[in-house]
Amino acid sequence: MGINRKDFIKHLGVAAVGGAILTSCKDQKDQAINEAYDTKTSYTWKMVTTWPPNFPVVGEACHKFARQVNEMSAGQFTIKVYGGGELIPSLEVFDAVSSGAAEIGHGASYYWAGKSPATQFFTSVPFGMNAQQMNAWLYYGGGLELWKEVYARFGLLPMPGGNTGVQMGGWFNREINTVEDFKGLKMRIPGLGGKVLEKLGATVVLSAVSEIYTNLERGVIDATEWVGPYHDYTMGYYEIAKYYYAPGWHEPGSNLEFMFNKRAFEALPKNLQTILEVATAQSNMYVLSEFEAKNNEYLQKIIADKSTEVRKFSPEVLKALKEKSIETLEAIADGDEMSAKVYDSYKKFQTSINQWAEYSEKLYYEI
Ligand code: CA
Repeated sequence: MGINRKDFIKHLGVAAVGGAILTSCKDQKDQAINEAYDTKTSYTWKMVTTWPPNFPVVGEACHKFARQVNEMSAGQFTIKVYGGGELIPSLEVFDAVSSGAAEIGHGASYYWAGKSPATQFFTSVPFGMNAQQMNAWLYYGGGLELWKEVYARFGLLPMPGGNTGVQMGGWFNREINTVEDFKGLKMRIPGLGGKVLEKLGATVVLSAVSEIYTNLERGVIDATEWVGPYHDYTMGYYEIAKYYYAPGWHEPGSNLEFMFNKRAFEALPKNLQTILEVATAQSNMYVLSEFEAKNNEYLQKIIADKSTEVRKFSPEVLKALKEKSIETLEAIADGDEMSAKVYDSYKKFQTSINQWAEYSEKLYYEI
């Protein structure tokens, strides 16, 4: 198959023109990159968090995030981290970032149920997905897109920011042998877990974190939930509670959040946006890993201390809690259009990933 000289010259010509087009495309692309990327302008942002200053794992992760962003950007990007109450009260984080008073926030989306009930699905719901499943839904199952949709209404951009793993059911001074034992129980348990218990006759008593210990000690409350063994141990509840029940059916894997002021984030050069995205993902992984690494260490300390008895809720109790949990979730979906859309995606993904778990996690744990 020969190519004659005339065709060859013609081919060269086309190649030359093509080359010219390519060059000009490359120039345009370089120009676009130069416009999108800026490694010179310095930024100093404020990050407000819902966590007490120096809160183990989660608060520490916020400082690590800020440090990593600063190092990855070679000092171009500085983030000042404030614990709850240092700059603004914890529960004003959402509004502060929404208004642009601070550019970044760290917290848990279920704190903002009053803004939109749909936010609750992005942290954890009773009998919902575990940490691994939440990450799968958020990053690859459409969850994060829905979360962005909910937050865009408030000028916010969310990103996953760590997970507590399966929490504990809580500290009790009354035995829970049957579902009847929830009747009249006074428990500090915020959010949807509290709503579920109310359906079973319990009374939810909300108190400031600093008052939980004395309230439990003096019988103002019969029970409280907190996080998991590591955090619970530091609160000292094992000294005054008779029983420590597992599992945290109400928070099977609470996903935490970074939130950015959307306009501020979008105005950043591309290189800094990528650094922030990468640092949030690293933080997400680091937080869950530390929870998983430390929880059993502290559960064993609690067991060894013998002041409290570690127990498991019976299958009957869990079944009743699950029924009431589903009713609670359905009611949220019925009452709000966005919640219905999010719950539909959440539920479908959970059903699907649990089918896979039958052949993966579940089977493996049975060995
Ligand atoms: Ca909790």
